[in-house]
Amino acid sequence: MILDQIIRCKVNFMQVLNNWLNNNHLSKFNIFTNTIFKQKCLLCASPQANKIGLCGLCLNDLPWHPKTSCPQCGLASGSGICGSCISSPPDFDATSAVFLYGFPIDAMMQRYKYGNMLSLYETFGQLLKDKAQLGSLNNSHVDLIIPMPMHPTRLKERGFNQALEIAKVLTKNDADKLDFRSVIRQKLTPPQASLPLKARVKNIKGAFKVNDDLTGKRIAIIDDVMTTGASLNELAKTLKKAGATRIECWVVARTLPHK
Ligand SMILES: [Zn+2]
Ligand SMILES: [Zn+2]
Repeated sequence: MILDQIIRCKVNFMQVLNNWLNNNHLSKFNIFTNTIFKQKCLLCASPQANKIGLCGLCLNDLPWHPKTSCPQCGLASGSGICGSCISSPPDFDATSAVFLYGFPIDAMMQRYKYGNMLSLYETFGQLLKDKAQLGSLNNSHVDLIIPMPMHPTRLKERGFNQALEIAKVLTKNDADKLDFRSVIRQKLTPPQASLPLKARVKNIKGAFKVNDDLTGKRIAIIDDVMTTGASLNELAKTLKKAGATRIECWVVARTLPHK
C-alpha cells in the first residue's frame, strides 16, 4: 500500500516536472531526470531504452548511412570515390555520416533544432562518436574538431549552436581538440535550405573567417545535416586557405541528392 503510494507519487512528480520542463523549453534537463528515473525510448516510449535514449528495435529501424557510399562526399556510389568527386573534387577530403536524412531522423532533427528536445544532442553526439570510432575517421586522426560556426545573430535567435552541442559530446574526453574559436561566421546569410545548389554556393561564399594559423592541421568539421555540402565545402576551402592539410566532414545525417 505504502509502496503503491510512493510509485504513484513518483509518476505524478515526473509528469509535473516534465510538463514544467517542456513548457519552459528546458528539456535539456531531461538528461538529468532520465538519469535518476529510468529513461523511456524517445521514439516508442518502451522502457528498454539504452543510455542514448533509444530502444534496440528503434535503433535497428533507423535509416543508417550505407557503407557503400563515396568516402569523399558520402553519397551513394558502387564502390570507392564517385564520378562527381573524381571530375570535380570538393575541398573536403572525406565524409562520415551516421544516417540518411529520412524518417524519423528528419523529425528528430527538427525537434532538436526548432522544438524543445535539446536533450537529443546527447543522442546524436553519442551516435556520431560511436560511428567515428568504428571507422578510420576517429578523434585520434584529427588535430582539431570544429563545429559549423553560426552567425551571432542566428545564435541569438536560436539560443544554441546545434553543431557545437554535438561536438561537445564527441570531445567529452578530448576537450583540447574542440575548437569553436578559430573560425567565425562573419556573413549573415539567408537559410541555405530555401535555395537551389548554385544559389547556395553563392550565398555562402566568403561567409567564414579564420582567426588562427592552421598550418598542417587535420580538421574534422561537425554538422548536423549535410545537404548539398555547399556550407561544408566553403568552410573546408576557408580552412585549407588558412593552412589546414586535411578536412573531414562528420555529420549526423546526409541527404540524398535531389533528382
Ligand atoms: Zn523504441
Ligand atoms: Zn563523392
